Amino acid sequence: MRHTELAERHLPEALLVRFRERAAASDRGNEFFDDDLRELREAGYLTLFVPAAHGGPGLSLHEVSRLQQRLAGAAPATALGVNMHLMCTGVVAAMSARGDDSLSYVFEEALAGEIFAFGISEPANDWVLQGSNTRAEPATDGGYRLTGTKIFTSLSPAWTRLIAHGLDASDPADPKLVYGFIERCAQGITTSDNWDVLGMRASQSRATRLDEVEMRADRVARRISPGRTPDLLTFAITSNFQLLVASVYAGVARRALAVAASALKSRRSASRETALSELGEWRSRLAEAHRCFLSVPAQLDAYTRDFDELVDHGVGWAPRLVAARIAAGEAARSAAETALVCSGGAGFNMESEASRLYRDAAASLFHPPSAEVSQGMFADALLDVA
Ligand SMILES: Cc1cc2nc3c(=O)[nH]c(=O)nc-3n(C[C@H](O)[C@H](O)[C@H](O)COP(=O)(O)OP(=O)(O)OC[C@H]3O[C@@H](n4cnc5c(N)ncnc54)[C@H](O)[C@@H]3O)c2cc1C
Repeated sequence: MRHTELAERHLPEALLVRFRERAAASDRGNEFFDDDLRELREAGYLTLFVPAAHGGPGLSLHEVSRLQQRLAGAAPATALGVNMHLMCTGVVAAMSARGDDSLSYVFEEALAGEIFAFGISEPANDWVLQGSNTRAEPATDGGYRLTGTKIFTSLSPAWTRLIAHGLDASDPADPKLVYGFIERCAQGITTSDNWDVLGMRASQSRATRLDEVEMRADRVARRISPGRTPDLLTFAITSNFQLLVASVYAGVARRALAVAASALKSRRSASRETALSELGEWRSRLAEAHRCFLSVPAQLDAYTRDFDELVDHGVGWAPRLVAARIAAGEAARSAAETALVCSGGAGFNMESEASRLYRDAAASLFHPPSAEVSQGMFADALLDVA
């Protein structure tokens, strides 16, 4: 589908205008994006990944990435929050495209209006997907009881299903990481009251405490060994997570450049009697941020298409995926700083869009793996370390 047609069908301009207005208010009030979520749900946005065979529009990762860039340009925190739901459904679509239909109940539930969130991050767990400090205690019926803390659970006021993992160490000689879905109505789930952050405030990514929360036997998705165990589910999570989070920051970067350009056109130099957009030093600043940005959507287009076309990059996937996300975060932070500088002192006002974009872009520093943590992986890929 052509991109303009894709955008008009799934994320029309009128919707974006409302989202952009509300983004300022929800940032100011530190409020969840309830109204955006309602409108996205009504527009069918939460079922984008559901394949046609299951009654959905069956969009590809490439198409959803483009739409998420567009959404993030209007309301970054809405895009980041909704990303978590899209990612869960995208994971199941990716598995299905690779011949594993075991989780297709997620499609039925998404069509029925359930909202999926991502409960993987934990305090002091830099293994992220490959380890967990949440205890998964086996139940006699094949299900589990999960006890632990998940941090930064975006969509915390709204989710009804949470993909989560925990460690089943009941056989110390053969511990297993358990992945699956828990339901919001299960006993033992508490959401933290503590959420007052720098940026992406409307995502309301509060910590979630799990106390012996039931993961039903029919919702256990995987039992795999901790550490670097190749598996389709974790590959699909990593791919969707890295490329969709990258899409959000690509959208933030593109919007920040537009805000910067518009500010330069509207500001004038009294001493040189012209608009700042006519002055070389200001043009250079904007040009540099623009040049830095342009490789980001290209990288996203290439990797999302490869992913949709089932290209097998093997061990080369991880560095590609992480590089795309880190580059998008860097471009967003650089473009947002440019927007702030080009807006002048007015941009420093908390109410200005430049200031909000700058704070939202800063959240890109905290998605795993960080530039520091992933350095080893990039070096190993060239130095042939197993
Ligand atoms: C805007 C945003 C949205 C995100 N959304 C998601 C998401 O939906 N799902 C997901 O899995 N990850 C999400 N992440 C998490 C992210 O990917 C990283 O894993 C996380 O930022 C890593 O933080 P850290 O290890 O430095 O945490 P830390 O600095 O250790 O902790 C971060 C915060 O978690 C809370 N916290 C830490 N320990 C505890 C505890 N014991 N009890 C209660 N609260 C505690 C505190 O509020 C603390 O400030 C999000 C991150 C950001 C910035």
